[in-house]
Amino acid sequence: MLHYLTVPVTPFQQNASIVWCDATRQAAVIDPGGDLDVLLGEVDRLGLTLGQIWLTHAHIDHAGGTGQLAQRLQLPIVGPHPGDQFWIDGLPQQSAMFGFPPAQHFTPTRWLHDSDTVQVGNETLNVRHCPGHTPGHVVFHAPQIDRAFVGDVLFAGSIGRTDFPQGNHEQLIDSITQRLWPMGDQTVFIPGHGPESTFGRERRSNPYVGNT
Ligand SMILES: [Zn+2]
Ligand SMILES: [Zn+2]
Repeated sequence: MLHYLTVPVTPFQQNASIVWCDATRQAAVIDPGGDLDVLLGEVDRLGLTLGQIWLTHAHIDHAGGTGQLAQRLQLPIVGPHPGDQFWIDGLPQQSAMFGFPPAQHFTPTRWLHDSDTVQVGNETLNVRHCPGHTPGHVVFHAPQIDRAFVGDVLFAGSIGRTDFPQGNHEQLIDSITQRLWPMGDQTVFIPGHGPESTFGRERRSNPYVGNT
């Protein structure tokens, strides 16, 4: 069985998620934006072995702690999609701009592409490429528990910003309607910020993508 715990980190209250397989106690952390001691404290408390970092996209609040964490525990970095290389290269400027501690540069061990899978212990999640907020944004779908970790693609009642370099509003809407909605109305999504919701609820009531 796959489990997860979401931990808001950084001044942006970004939802980092620890996901794990209860049969093996193997864990991955999705989007370690910062507050690494808080995240590692939860990993210890849960009795897990952290073995990987997974990234939805390379904005500082999601990826800022990646280089340091990878080096500290010798972890592989999985994702995002290569479209976000320029955001990884820009992490030092993002740190300065948003008042984050200097982010350590990193190189993903494995880039992700649409229809890839990632594995933690005995559990497999599906990867969907969902560009629009950033060109290399990916989403992790766990159909076995009807959950999707969607980063900054979709929020409860809102959608990701597209006013950044290489942001694209139409692409974002397509990502949501063509790649998220097919996961099913019952799917609970964990957004990059704020509370969880379901795709069904957003299809009914989200002012940006309702009735789509
Ligand atoms: Zn973002
Ligand atoms: Zn964010």
